Amino acid sequence: MTTLTDIRSAYPALRQTINGHPLTYLDSAATALKPTPVIEAVTAYLRENGASVHRSVHTLAERATEAYEAARADVARFIGAAAPETVVFTRGATESLNLVAYGYARRHLAPGDEILLTPAEHHSNLVPWQQVALATGARLVYVELEPDGQLSLEAVRAALSERTRLVAVTQASNVLGTINPVAEIARLAHAVGAVVVVDGAQSVPHLPVDVTALDCDFLAFSGHKLGAPTGIGILYGKPERLEETEPLLFGGEMIQLVERERSTWADPPAKFEGGTPNVAGAIGLGAAVRFLEGIGMATVAAHDRELAEEAYRRLAAIDGVRVYGPPAPRTGLVAFNIEGVHPHDVAQVFDAEGIAIRAGHHCAQPLMRWLGVAATARASFGPYNGPDDLDALVRGILATKRYFSRGSR
Ligand code: PLP
Repeated sequence: MTTLTDIRSAYPALRQTINGHPLTYLDSAATALKPTPVIEAVTAYLRENGASVHRSVHTLAERATEAYEAARADVARFIGAAAPETVVFTRGATESLNLVAYGYARRHLAPGDEILLTPAEHHSNLVPWQQVALATGARLVYVELEPDGQLSLEAVRAALSERTRLVAVTQASNVLGTINPVAEIARLAHAVGAVVVVDGAQSVPHLPVDVTALDCDFLAFSGHKLGAPTGIGILYGKPERLEETEPLLFGGEMIQLVERERSTWADPPAKFEGGTPNVAGAIGLGAAVRFLEGIGMATVAAHDRELAEEAYRRLAAIDGVRVYGPPAPRTGLVAFNIEGVHPHDVAQVFDAEGIAIRAGHHCAQPLMRWLGVAATARASFGPYNGPDDLDALVRGILATKRYFSRGSR
């Protein structure tokens, strides 16, 4: 069994002090720390290879192509996709969702059609659909959340109709910590003929995700939240959906035949990977998913949930602290506010204590409005966090309260 000490030793960034304190990293929902196998895989490619893929026949290029395609197969296995060809490399969740919005939805939606969303969506799974609505005349319909932030299947069922063409929903909220019943939502949506787009940015790093079991049409996520470098992400699509999707980028590598006046496209996934891709990032992502598989995603999920639920309990018990979302079940984060203190000031005091947390609207302004706040602080967990980090979180809150009660006297 892999112990927390073993896991922590794989993350070199943890071996540093910040402002005189050992680093406590509680910002994994923004981006995860990078484990040594990822750093080594990327470094080895850059040091010993550096070639592009799918182009030249020389040995380095062939090795690069093998490594790139092996990473695609790793990701496919990790998310339970039936074939590597259903896995498209993109820059991240945002690009993946835009690819679906531009390449699929703008071609398939018409005036009177409806796009179903929730107010808890990250801007990356909201603004592209606004753009689709503007371009096609389709209408955005929001399923309202329960008072504790959960999404009820009853509400989803009531909002769906034969006009619903597309449902875009996050599997795990980056603010509320809620986990949405995506498989059931997909079943309901498919019954009215709608296509289901899942934002997996916060779920894929924290939960076992199986696209075949979910039966979603598309799933988007980012590599950097899994421990890979920034600038690499994934769009999974069912083969028939990818066939129906137009590319976002036109140019080299994505074509079958180019004539003077017109061209035809390569089969997916190449059709969506125009230009020289992020080979180093893809190799890093392959290493990141293998590293997480080594721990086991069921173990990761149980660990994150335990930390988040314990954090919720401990924070909710502190006078003047408000925690958002339901106490349980939750994914690995807690968003909170300290009465009378701006979240940016909270994050500043935490930083002085060597604790990295996030403060702001978390790219979820409609959700902030729903919560009735402008911003929150947020602590989020990764496989390298443990009970000491919860102690640090509480210590940070008490330090903030002390600091501001002194200041206000
Ligand atoms: N969706 C959710 C729920 C997120 O939390 C994020 C990132 O914070 C994104 C989408 C966008 O991810 P990226 O900025 O890596 O494209």
